[in-house]
Amino acid sequence: MKALKQTEIDDFKNQFDGDVLLPDDPAYDEVRQIWNAMIDRKPGMIARCTSADDVVKAVNLARENELLVSVRGGGHNIAGNAICDEGLMIDLSLLKQVQVDPKSRRATVEPGCTLADLDAATQKHGLATPVGINSTTGVAGLTLGGGFGWLSRKYGMTVDNLLSANVVTADGRQLRASETENADLFWGLRGGGGNFGIVTQFEFQLHPVGPDVLSGLIVFPFDQAKSVITQFARFTETAPEELSIWMVARMAPPLPFLPEAVHGQTVVILALCYTGDPTEGEKLIEPLREFGTAHGEHIGVEPFCAWQQAFDPLLTPGARNYWKSHNFTQLSDGAIDTAVEYSGKLPSPQSEIFIASIGGATCRPAPEAMAYSSRDANYVLNVHIRWDSADDDQRCIAWARDFFAKSKPFASGGAYINFLTQDETDRIESAYGPTYTRLLELKKKFDPTNLFRMNQNIKPD
Ligand SMILES: Cc1cc2nc3c(=O)[nH]c(=O)nc-3n(C[C@H](O)[C@H](O)[C@H](O)COP(=O)(O)OP(=O)(O)OC[C@H]3O[C@@H](n4cnc5c(N)ncnc54)[C@H](O)[C@@H]3O)c2cc1C
Repeated sequence: MKALKQTEIDDFKNQFDGDVLLPDDPAYDEVRQIWNAMIDRKPGMIARCTSADDVVKAVNLARENELLVSVRGGGHNIAGNAICDEGLMIDLSLLKQVQVDPKSRRATVEPGCTLADLDAATQKHGLATPVGINSTTGVAGLTLGGGFGWLSRKYGMTVDNLLSANVVTADGRQLRASETENADLFWGLRGGGGNFGIVTQFEFQLHPVGPDVLSGLIVFPFDQAKSVITQFARFTETAPEELSIWMVARMAPPLPFLPEAVHGQTVVILALCYTGDPTEGEKLIEPLREFGTAHGEHIGVEPFCAWQQAFDPLLTPGARNYWKSHNFTQLSDGAIDTAVEYSGKLPSPQSEIFIASIGGATCRPAPEAMAYSSRDANYVLNVHIRWDSADDDQRCIAWARDFFAKSKPFASGGAYINFLTQDETDRIESAYGPTYTRLLELKKKFDPTNLFRMNQNIKPD
């Protein structure tokens, strides 16, 4: 990074309302932490924004001094793009307001909000919009890459529910983007990642959800994996859109409803959420219990917000993580066999193979309708490898790559940009898919010098 002179730093501190942290500041190390402990970078300066005006000032400082910029929302990105070495980290995590208008069923959301912040505010009114399944994830990064979770089969991707966004562009302008204002920018924000500017406010369409929903887990022994996953694949092809089921293969955590002897054993879990009438849902999920002889289950009617946090204890920050992901149109026998084979030899107790069944409303828009184009992704596989010691890095990463290579022949070729790791820059263009050429034109228009490049980057040159 070009070194700023002390006078330049002082000038910036004087005009910036939030805190400006330098490496010798006591709060610096805590604030630069992100979810994936594999990434340990040291920005030259952290600007903790308290308003959209602060964001403009930080962007102007970076542009005028040619600083490398990273943008932090919830800090969950697996590639660690929220943080850079030496440059300027623009930290949005203090911008946490959510405002809900229950009449129009709309919410405006600041970019430091986590999914928990958003769900808590909207569920007060029995409303929600589709987001992810781990409540500490940032709304901002999740939305800009596409976003999917338990409500997506019914209500689409998170981007399908984005109504407008306020954006600070690389030249320091504040623009509003919607179908009617800066429509090209709006098109690009819905799946183009953080390439076009910094969003300072999102506006979402909300839907009636819960506040109680039928949800929970059924846990099967690993020796029934082939049969359970095959039935899961066939069942989800025609399941109603109110019902979402995800398959997770992992070593059983010490869940109280499982016999102690099962703890630590490899199991196949069906995690489900039904957002319609729970009595109807009970009937619908009855066949799942016949997929095998379960070790146990924990299913009931509980607050949607509680279900949104059910996986948080398994996904806490601070561990080392490496992911590999494929999209699938259909789960063929080959895909299932490979998943079963690798589920039987997971490289660490915290690792998991999950297959999210999305489809439904996520597949209805045309691929070119917005930047997010993977409208053939009925299933998203994520190989989520997680461990504690750096000594295991090589072994665990090699395992994930091996599984990824073996399952590739059965995948659609598309990928979810929010699941790409930092070593997958060669997959970025294919992950954006048919919209890449238009995204490139948009990048040239809104960020020709690539100020915003700590992301799944669209290189303007
Ligand atoms: C445990 C875990 C569970 C997950 N589960 C799901 C899931 O169920 N569904 C799903 O869809 N995804 C899921 N994800 C992936 C998630 O969508 C991405 O990691 C996403 O990038 C997280 O956003 P963030 O704001 O927390 O990340 P950050 O790391 O803070 O930001 C990621 C990138 O987004 C960009 N960015 C962030 N904020 C802004 C902004 N305001 N303006 C412009 N650019 C910005 C920047 O390029 C930044 O580098 C999960 C991730 C984790 C770690």
